[in-house]
Amino acid sequence: MALGKDYATQECSIARALEIVGERWTLLVVRDALYGVRRYNDFLVHLGIPRAVLAARLQALTAAGVLEKRRYQESPPRDEYVLTEHGRGLWSVLRSLGAWGRTIPGTLPPREFRHALCGTPLGVVGECATCGGLVPLEEVEMLPGAGLDPDPADPVSRALLEPRRLLQPVVTEPV
Ligand SMILES: [Zn+2]
Repeated sequence: MALGKDYATQECSIARALEIVGERWTLLVVRDALYGVRRYNDFLVHLGIPRAVLAARLQALTAAGVLEKRRYQESPPRDEYVLTEHGRGLWSVLRSLGAWGRTIPGTLPPREFRHALCGTPLGVVGECATCGGLVPLEEVEMLPGAGLDPDPADPVSRALLEPRRLLQPVVTEPV
């Protein structure tokens, strides 16, 4: 029997979360938003995602309150997508998903994350063992890891080669 579109029979918080983030590409869009990607074209080139799929994912994440659409230019009208407080809560989810992903044989981490204030590598859900507790996203520094392509073709990947903070806006267009 084919799987249904949703999990209507599941009274489970994991199933409810998957209603929002369970589709292909969705968590990668959220990941990029955490890395500071905000603009449609930047998501497009960095993810290599079909246009219609990206538009649908951005629309769904906005409707679910994970992303907030903000107009940054009036003529022509251009919007950018920024994580809401609710959406930022997915950082710990992606952090632990990535930790599990690194246990898959042959996986080299493309990025490393540390607490910018003390230099301690982040724990599995984004906590700092030195300072205690979860590190605020603005204090998370991301650095290139062993698995990162040092010479990527797209401008977003190139912008992400430098050490930077989470949520720091990626700028790829000349101003
Ligand atoms: Zn710390």
